[in-house]
Amino acid sequence: MITQVEIDGLRNLPIAAQKLLIGGEWRNSSDGGVIEVISPIDGQKLTTIAAATSADVDDAVSSAREVFERGDWSRMAPAGRMKVMHKIADLIIEHAKELAVLGVRDNGTEIGMALKAEPGSAAGTFRFYAEAIDKVYGEIAPTADNVLALVHREPVGVVGAIVPWNFPLMIGAWKIAPALAAGNSVVLKPSEAASLSLLRLADLCLAAGLPAGVLNVVTGNGAVAGEAMGLHPDIDIIAFTGSGGTGRRLMDCAARSNMKRLYLELGGKSPNVIFADVEDLDHAAKVSAAGIFRNSGEVCVAGSRILVERSIHDGFVERLKAHAEKLVIGDPLDIANNIGAVTTKQQLDGDLAFVERAQAEGATLVYGGKQLHGESGGFYMQPTIFTNVGSDMDLFQNEVFGPVVAVTAFDTEEEAVGLANGTELGLAAAVWTSNLSRAHRTVRNIKSGVVHVNTYGGAGNNVPLAGMKQSGNGADKSLHALEKYENLKTAWIQL
Ligand code: NAD
Repeated sequence: MITQVEIDGLRNLPIAAQKLLIGGEWRNSSDGGVIEVISPIDGQKLTTIAAATSADVDDAVSSAREVFERGDWSRMAPAGRMKVMHKIADLIIEHAKELAVLGVRDNGTEIGMALKAEPGSAAGTFRFYAEAIDKVYGEIAPTADNVLALVHREPVGVVGAIVPWNFPLMIGAWKIAPALAAGNSVVLKPSEAASLSLLRLADLCLAAGLPAGVLNVVTGNGAVAGEAMGLHPDIDIIAFTGSGGTGRRLMDCAARSNMKRLYLELGGKSPNVIFADVEDLDHAAKVSAAGIFRNSGEVCVAGSRILVERSIHDGFVERLKAHAEKLVIGDPLDIANNIGAVTTKQQLDGDLAFVERAQAEGATLVYGGKQLHGESGGFYMQPTIFTNVGSDMDLFQNEVFGPVVAVTAFDTEEEAVGLANGTELGLAAAVWTSNLSRAHRTVRNIKSGVVHVNTYGGAGNNVPLAGMKQSGNGADKSLHALEKYENLKTAWIQL
């Protein structure tokens, strides 16, 4: 919990111009380039971040490689690595309020959610993988008597982590923590739209005793610093979360350079399916509203397509609208508000353009659709509900990544599953039903990385988040994520 007094004590603290972290030293970009950081709360400049050049990326990769080969971290005894990672988690918790408010000033997430989902979740992720370090074993394979076959797990080398602007600490930790636990060095590229909390995290990692060069941070433009990472011949893995378009570019970069291993966590257009036998329609409507509108819809797993059985369609939409109307949108650092700001002006313009296109395509605007609080200079948008959204429409097929939901009616379970699977994406889903068999059947038939039943959202560090289809590959979280950052090596020993 955080009080308004605590928030107000942190919300106006000056923020120094931010630098790159390379080899344990904070430094300016090699050509002195910077990017202005604009707060979505009021559109005002907060500070600047350094715009890394490809030469800076080279330096960061060299420092990561050097320390990896020297073994300061990669060969440190498990107990030593565990201690540092637990210390990082301790420092995140100690600085949780500061980190949360800093992140909100940068990306506009409502403070209550930011506190829980950002430092709270990041600290838990560091602890989860800290604990794994001395609990995940290699293997001895069954062989003939005269052979001993050992399967070693080894760190891969240099991991490039490229992350987006929504939940930067949480998603950053999903990459950094397992990569470090496995013994790798990391070069982190935060989004140009939300770098501040990750830069502070890097500072805390140094304070916790992470050896210099093991974690490097190159802020800046995706097309420059991100692309330089994608093309770098000495990065072994890129773990990426962001849009499908950037994911495609990274695949191309990997193919054109060293065929680096690529893990992609991309967008979603997640179906939230409400069957007529749902136990409590109003509860389903309330949770569904939160499932799309929290963080202004800037949640990769947001339930952005609601599929409703026709017999309950009108009653459901009425309730969904009633819950949307109750949400108070405004300053994300006012704890009385439910929903904060859209992260950038560009994102807000994109959200509004989706509304225009949906209307032009013939969908029915039931609620919202407009910018709010323009006088503040910040970027705010009404929760927006469309009905009569056909499966061929832009709003049904493409991710808005904003507070806009498409509602579509269906008649049968088969049709619902067909609609649910009717896009190129497959990140998350939900089904609401009191029929146990139908719940299991639809979990089995819907192609997405997670299917919620009678809820929307909710997850733990010990379960994977892994996209299907064009939502990506590999998994963040759980021990499966640890495996991504390891090589398996067999020692075949003749006895
Ligand atoms: P984005 O693809 O624009 O940017 C993501 C990161 O990639 C940023 O750090 C950016 O600087 C970098 N980048 C941009 N161009 C690049 C290039 N050419 N080469 C290398 N790096 C480059 O995405 P975004 O707008 O920051 O994030 C929103 C997207 O992320 C949405 O599609 C959302 O669904 C997705 N997302 C997915 C998950 C998940 O777990 N699957 C989680 C959160 C967000």
